Amino acid sequence: MAKYTPMIQQYLSVKAQYKDAFLFFRLGDFYEMFFEDAIKASQELEITLTGRDGGTEERIPMCGVPYHSAESYINQLIEKGYKVAICEQVEDPKAAKGVVRREVVQLITPGTVMQGKVIDEKANNYIASINDFQDGSYGFAYIDLTTGEGNITMIVGDWLDAVGEIYSVGAKEVVVSSTFSEEKLREFKQRMNITVSIEDDSAIPESLAETSKGLEQTKLKETLGRLLQYLIKTQKRSLEHLQPVQYYETNQYMKLDIHSKRNLELVETIRAKGRKGSFLWLLDSTVTAMGARRLKQWIERPLLSKTEIENRLNLVEQFLNNFMIRKELREALKLVYDLERLSGRVAFGNVNARDLIQLKRSLEQVPIILGLVEQLGNEYANQLVRDIDRCESLFHLIDASIQENPPLSIKDGGIIKDGYNEKLDAYRDAVLNGKQWIAQLEMREKEITGIKSLKIGYNRVFGYYIEVTKSNIHLLPEGRYERKQTLANAERYITPELKEKEALILEAEEKMVDLEYDLFVNIREEVKQYIPQLQHLAKFISEIDCLQSFAEISEEYHYTKPEFSEDRSMIIKEGRHPVVEKVLQSNVFVANDCHLNSEREILLITGPNMSGKSTYMRQIALIAIMAQIGCFVPAEKAVLPIFDQIFTRIGAADDLVSGQSTFMVEMLEAKNALTKATQNSLILLDEIGRGTSTYDGMALAQAIIEYIHDEIGAKTLFSTHYHELVQLEHSLARVVNVHVSAMEEKGKVVFLHKVKEGPADKSYGIHVAELAELPETLIKRAKEILDKLENNQTENKNIHTTVYEENAQLSFFNIETEPKEQNSKTTQVTKNAEEVLKKLQSLDLL
Ligand code: ADP
Repeated sequence: MAKYTPMIQQYLSVKAQYKDAFLFFRLGDFYEMFFEDAIKASQELEITLTGRDGGTEERIPMCGVPYHSAESYINQLIEKGYKVAICEQVEDPKAAKGVVRREVVQLITPGTVMQGKVIDEKANNYIASINDFQDGSYGFAYIDLTTGEGNITMIVGDWLDAVGEIYSVGAKEVVVSSTFSEEKLREFKQRMNITVSIEDDSAIPESLAETSKGLEQTKLKETLGRLLQYLIKTQKRSLEHLQPVQYYETNQYMKLDIHSKRNLELVETIRAKGRKGSFLWLLDSTVTAMGARRLKQWIERPLLSKTEIENRLNLVEQFLNNFMIRKELREALKLVYDLERLSGRVAFGNVNARDLIQLKRSLEQVPIILGLVEQLGNEYANQLVRDIDRCESLFHLIDASIQENPPLSIKDGGIIKDGYNEKLDAYRDAVLNGKQWIAQLEMREKEITGIKSLKIGYNRVFGYYIEVTKSNIHLLPEGRYERKQTLANAERYITPELKEKEALILEAEEKMVDLEYDLFVNIREEVKQYIPQLQHLAKFISEIDCLQSFAEISEEYHYTKPEFSEDRSMIIKEGRHPVVEKVLQSNVFVANDCHLNSEREILLITGPNMSGKSTYMRQIALIAIMAQIGCFVPAEKAVLPIFDQIFTRIGAADDLVSGQSTFMVEMLEAKNALTKATQNSLILLDEIGRGTSTYDGMALAQAIIEYIHDEIGAKTLFSTHYHELVQLEHSLARVVNVHVSAMEEKGKVVFLHKVKEGPADKSYGIHVAELAELPETLIKRAKEILDKLENNQTENKNIHTTVYEENAQLSFFNIETEPKEQNSKTTQVTKNAEEVLKKLQSLDLL
């Protein structure tokens, strides 16, 4: 190291502590990067790579970004999942002996970034920590540094449960111990795009003891401690806004595994990975960013408590019935800024005067909002209103102190109102008087010299001066003026009198600016005291925003208030898929009923491809979720059980577990449902078994249905193209056939999308093949085979097998199997399937 210059040595020793981050090393007006960092950053940021002498023969690779535009570069790196360590000069270069002392003042990471475009205002930016206790339990804590909100839980279960929880909160970064399994970490990094950070200290830091209030379990404390340690070490500043973390139990909410959340496209679509087209996108008519974030949280966590659900539903109903209140409320909410993130920034010490004005304007709306909510006359809401601290004194503080339109900078004055501080007013008077004096001087000089165009100006270099155009110079009296600067057509002069006044003005101005800054910092400190109240207020506003949003949407799309059954039965009349309905636009969508009860637990859904089977299944799940988040539902009538969990195996393979065959993915998802579902769960299985050969797949499908029927008793929708399975209705008491109807019109298949009782009664496979213009002779042959199969099933078994194996997707043949034959086949099939199932259950997921 000795061969390098002292500055590079300093760089290297700092860099050694921040190996996994880009080190932004402050040099004058630039942040510079060196060596590997420089090479990588120049590529990532598309900036020029240069070099610098560093004491060695070869020049050191270097690139840099200007200090004043650093934020956008930092954000670009953070967005790509990198970390950036900000290393500043921490002593005055003039006072420094040798190299100026530099220190990292903050490590910015994807989970801790506070500002800029990286932060989606409609989503929380969580950083999480996870502790694997190696006993089937995981501690899981997550905090949003921008809002101060934190949550913690113990996940008891397998790794998939843990992954599901992390996925559902959408954490950007996860902090683990250095002993955490590499393999599991890869899951985060590669498949979920989560940045991983290591922290081995898991003691709750003393300064943040408050955040662990109420936590008893050591495991929980360790999990939180690790996260807090990391935050303290990386942020190196006040984290006072962190709220006591909320302990929750994963079984307090409806459980939706990671596959279901993706399959149902709750918060993002599978293909585009964007919000647009998702369930969240449909439901979001919130006005504030806080509301939008809360809505996302609610969708991720449907409720289980009937009382809590009904509290929400009743409020939605009242908002729905009171159009005027809702309208006024929306108007008021529009004027409310992001209180949560504002308070986060107050704590972080980076609010400016404009932020405080935003805070004030928001607080101004609070009485209006509370008044409107009270007008609803809802006891539950009134209780919430009574608990709110309106922060009136905070409003008055800002109102009395901060100018209405303050500048962005807090260092140049112009922030504090007149009358707030006597001393400041005195300085201001002095400056004002001085300036008036100068204006008078200008008039006087004009009179004395008779030069009408004479004027007094100011610039930073010369201060105040008297300017006279060249053509008038001869009019100036001798000796009174000292020439200071010559311009093309004018001369600038000063007088001792002018300079004397100038000194007074400048001194007062400087003092004024300094005092304003001090006053502002004090006000900011005072605002800090209000953070808990502001956070509470923000929570209330965000929830009210969600509920009015539900009312808006429910009105727009004609949703109904759901009711809840005590006996686990479900009656949906004229149910619709909320997103497909919206995308298809008005009245094209065909509504469908769904009845499930103790006699009808499993619906076996048959019907041709594209008839609407999976849409139907998804809509049932979405209706259940909507009801449990407290929203009205797209149906004429809905009486629903409260589901503890929803499992789905629908549609395209999930790329989260890429690298596995589609069939394996299908089986893993089925396993997850079969091992975790209870009789209070909802299971949706779409075309299970499709990924393998016909008998094999059919055997599995049947065994799965039997298993759910006999062992679990969960409400299940099972779509299949194995027409043979419709026979199960006879052998399994609670299995019922329904089909999605289609009809044939002039040689075309017309989908009616209507779900009807009974099995699909006709195969459209050959017709579809005909429409696809397969060779005529082939179609003819297929018809012959079908005829044979239908008329004389036992005559030619070989043909039977071949047809099914090769045309799995087209096999809607209605085969009347002889009862004896059927039984022996079924038994064999079931045996095979049981073995397969056993194997499945022993698999380790992910
Ligand atoms: P399947 O699962 O039977 O192959 P899908 O559920 O994927 O069929 O539906 C295919 C298409 O049919 C959907 O993309 C949708 O556009 C349309 N569709 C489905 N259900 C309905 C319905 N109830 N009303 C109108 N269109 C529907």
